[in-house]
Amino acid sequence: MVIEGSTLVGYPSGEVTGRSTVVARVPVGERHGTIVTETPFHPLDHTWPDQPADRGTVAGIPVTDCVTGAVADGERQVHLGENIPVRRGSPGWSWLVVHVTPEPVPDGEVDLVVDAEHRHALSTGHTACHLAALALNAALADRWRKEVPADGLGHSDFDQTAIASSRILPGGSLDVYRLGKSLRRKGFAVEGLGESLPEITRRVGDTLKEWVAADAPVTIESPGRELTARRTWRCGLPEGEAAIPCGGTHLASTARLGAVAVALELSGDGTELTMRTTAG
Ligand SMILES: [Zn+2]
Repeated sequence: MVIEGSTLVGYPSGEVTGRSTVVARVPVGERHGTIVTETPFHPLDHTWPDQPADRGTVAGIPVTDCVTGAVADGERQVHLGENIPVRRGSPGWSWLVVHVTPEPVPDGEVDLVVDAEHRHALSTGHTACHLAALALNAALADRWRKEVPADGLGHSDFDQTAIASSRILPGGSLDVYRLGKSLRRKGFAVEGLGESLPEITRRVGDTLKEWVAADAPVTIESPGRELTARRTWRCGLPEGEAAIPCGGTHLASTARLGAVAVALELSGDGTELTMRTTAG
């Protein structure tokens, strides 16, 4: 079994079905991993595991998990998920979508069907997550005393500077920001943040309401169809076009979110800010 090239993916353009040829199989513990030429399935990313794996079926067999695989050029061993020794997209490797099933998938051409309802809920959560991050950047912009890189709308990028983890959930997201010494050294004022949270939450909510009402178009720009092609999320907001590097799936416009709300919480010791975003 020699794998030639990375899996081609259809999820960035919103595909939820496909038909492709089985090119390899790998054991995943007691379960079976299947690799095809081209798939609509979104796997969990091993470097930045924000959006969960798609569910669905391959050849009618339930896909219970979908993980990223990688094989070095000229090698045969497929590394899976957190056992991949290099970062996403490192050159000299083929990048693979591994569909995990309880039973083996037959050889030849197979139908791939993603659970469209679950995908839609994750796309909703992911689009809401990016918008909430941009709205939070705007609401915290006056707390910066030094210059840090700005987001697409010109606000100091608190989200990218302070993010510790981001998890996309069905219909929402959970982002955790670190407010430690390193952020303060970069010029972020944490004084009085706890008391200001209700006001910040209100401002984020107002901004999100405007953006949903504006029905701004959301697109994914992709330089190629390979799994690890460097894709960019773009949203034409009234203030300007925002762009965020992104490997996930999204709704086609902000209005499709219906409504978005955030809840902000500061940890007891003040070193972590959590933002829970909900949409729909
Ligand atoms: Zn993203």
